[in-house]
Amino acid sequence: GERHILMDEAAIRRALTRIAHEIVEKNKGIEDCIIVGIRTRGVHLAKRIAEKISDIEGIDAPVYDLDITKYRDDRSDDFELETAQQPGDTELNIDVKNKKIILFDDVLYTGRTIRAAMDAIMDCGRPQSIQLAVLVDRGHRELPIRPDYIGKNVPTSKQEVIQVQLSEVDLVDQVTISH
Ligand code: 5GP
Ligand code: MG
Repeated sequence: GERHILMDEAAIRRALTRIAHEIVEKNKGIEDCIIVGIRTRGVHLAKRIAEKISDIEGIDAPVYDLDITKYRDDRSDDFELETAQQPGDTELNIDVKNKKIILFDDVLYTGRTIRAAMDAIMDCGRPQSIQLAVLVDRGHRELPIRPDYIGKNVPTSKQEVIQVQLSEVDLVDQVTISH
């Protein structure tokens, strides 16, 4: 169907720059923070954010990637095709005790992926806090989850699909919606 551009390369770059500043401001720096990106595109966003924070604060925050496939309580959407991984590849092995965890994903929808990501993190111990950053919040939450940092709010119908393209995997930086 029809496809519209929601964010171009500059819009994505500016949103990530803003979020990097928001993270640093909220946490009064980046000490004790761990950034966890959700595969696949959340990881690339997490790495970009860490780089921007490094430019701002002069400190490299650790970045980990998380595949939530085995934790999901449903497999109903087609969006997770990209995350088809080898079994056993899903363990998160980090010391989260007293750390501030900043989760990063490309699109937030029902909230089930984030709930699963929180399960995976809690399996590692007791973090000081978990925060959530997303490039696009498309609404339709089915769980009491809200992001702390949002690139762009995009009210959608359930039929619409957001496409997030990142240069690391898609050659272009662009967010589009199709009806
Ligand atoms: P949720 O678990 O909140 O229902 O869905 C969020 C997860 O599914 C994210 O990891 C995201 O990548 C994917 N997702 C959900 N809706 C969309 C969408 O409209 N476009 C894209 N690209 N991914 C989506
Ligand atoms: Mg995903």
